[in-house]
Amino acid sequence: MKFSFVTLFPSLIEGYFSDSILSRAIENNKISLDFYNPRDYTDNKHNKVDAQMVGGGAGMIMTPQPLYDTLNKVRSDDTHIIFLTPVGKKFTQNDAKRLASKKHIVLVSGRYEGIDERVIEEFGDELFSIGDYILTGGELASMVVCDSISRNIDGVLGNSDSLDIESYENNILEAPSFSKPLSYQNRDVISEYSKGNHSKISQLKLKLSEAKTKYFRPDLQSKI
Ligand code: SAM
Repeated sequence: MKFSFVTLFPSLIEGYFSDSILSRAIENNKISLDFYNPRDYTDNKHNKVDAQMVGGGAGMIMTPQPLYDTLNKVRSDDTHIIFLTPVGKKFTQNDAKRLASKKHIVLVSGRYEGIDERVIEEFGDELFSIGDYILTGGELASMVVCDSISRNIDGVLGNSDSLDIESYENNILEAPSFSKPLSYQNRDVISEYSKGNHSKISQLKLKLSEAKTKYFRPDLQSKI
């Protein structure tokens, strides 16, 4: 899978992929990344990519020409172009799984007060928000989306079984997990976990998952 990041600040993103699971995924050719900076495509003699809003409003927005030229360069029959924006639909684990089968995902980050709507109308295959709050720019959101899609691509995780028991699988949160030692700072591992009866452990984990979901995310529970 190829990810193309369209951003005014590629260096904010590059570092995230230089270590750990995702850097190995790049080394092993499971994912590849490239970057397009709209500032490299602007016709403006001062390299500007933003302007005031027509009709007034506080702040600047990204103008259409640099983004049109950037996205015309990157768009192909294989691309799926995603805009990160607070007005998009909320990104979920189901989206991460569904998008893991795409060939080439393009993640467009806004800056300032956002992007001229005509760019989104022309190029947007999907619009995602990563939550009900406002970020300074789309870079963090595009990394979130890329990371969570990548985990669902075959061969990216060392042990793909871990995907089946993660939170949000079947709209339920993961049960509590422990490592050794069995007792630490006067807190003990749930005793049933250490007795080796895997069927009992699974039943208990399911009950704990349900209780956690009911407590922390009753909205998920209603989807079961
Ligand atoms: N004026 C915009 C609004 O009220 O909807 C907010 C613009 S925000 C300061 C700048 C950029 O950050 C956006 O264009 C978008 O790319 C990104 N962004 C901010 N919050 C986001 C969120 N919750 N999810 C995804 N992207 C977000």
